[in-house]
Amino acid sequence: MALLDNLLTLHRVDSQVRALSSRVGQAKIYLEAQEKLLTLLEKQKVELATQSRQLQASVHGLELEQTTASERVEKLRNELNTSTNDKQYKAILNEMKVLETRKDEIVKRAVDEMQRVEETAKRVEVHTATIAERLKIREVAKGKLAECMSDVGERLAELENERTRAADLIPERDRMLFDRVADLTEGQTMAEVTIVDLRHREFACGECNIEVPFETYARLSSNSDSVIQCKSCARILFLASFNRPEEKAKAAKLEKADSDRVKADLKAEVKAGLKDDAKAERALRADKAKFEKTRKL
Ligand SMILES: [Zn+2]
Repeated sequence: MALLDNLLTLHRVDSQVRALSSRVGQAKIYLEAQEKLLTLLEKQKVELATQSRQLQASVHGLELEQTTASERVEKLRNELNTSTNDKQYKAILNEMKVLETRKDEIVKRAVDEMQRVEETAKRVEVHTATIAERLKIREVAKGKLAECMSDVGERLAELENERTRAADLIPERDRMLFDRVADLTEGQTMAEVTIVDLRHREFACGECNIEVPFETYARLSSNSDSVIQCKSCARILFLASFNRPEEKAKAAKLEKADSDRVKADLKAEVKAGLKDDAKAERALRADKAKFEKTRKL
């Protein structure tokens, strides 16, 4: 078989291998995305737990501060009762005022912090539920990958063997080129040359539509071992089977056989025709003779 035919066979198997591999690949990517998301969620959970602990400690600290301030106020109240002069009385009263204001602030802050503790607890709850949900999805993704591997595995192995056999028929240099183009074009390695206008010698790459020079078409149509890449998309160009040299030779042979047969038929017909003509002439002559005889009588 010609090199281009071998390349086309390799292309057919290669794209099947790629399609199946990509099914497994997609299932893997999906599972990996789920794993990544779970890792992120777990990290956020740890952060939320830390935040919650810090908030609780802060509330606890404020509670202690509030107790200390209350105790101090109580002490000052006693001192107020036992104060001996106006100046001392005023000073104690003033401190008590300041402390009361601070206590109010502490209470306000404690209320705010407690609210944040509650909010964080709620977030932890929602987060935990999300993680549980995501764990289920991860299990589904794992199952899908396993299913895909068992579905595809055997067929993929078969196709990979077939691919190796097809590749073995191709010289190393062309095989390396094929692999390079296949990676570049995600398996769309071969491109058929489209005949835009044969009379005006206009041709195009069937994949990227860029113009293909006449020389390329001429080389491909005279030699099926020519490996020529599209100048634009790098794909390996080929001609539709009826334009390939071996097919053209076959067609020409058939055409010749057809025309020979037609010629032979024609000859036979002509011969038969001539025979008929001679017969007719003989009949005519006989008729004439008969007529002459009758006239003479
Ligand atoms: Zn192209």
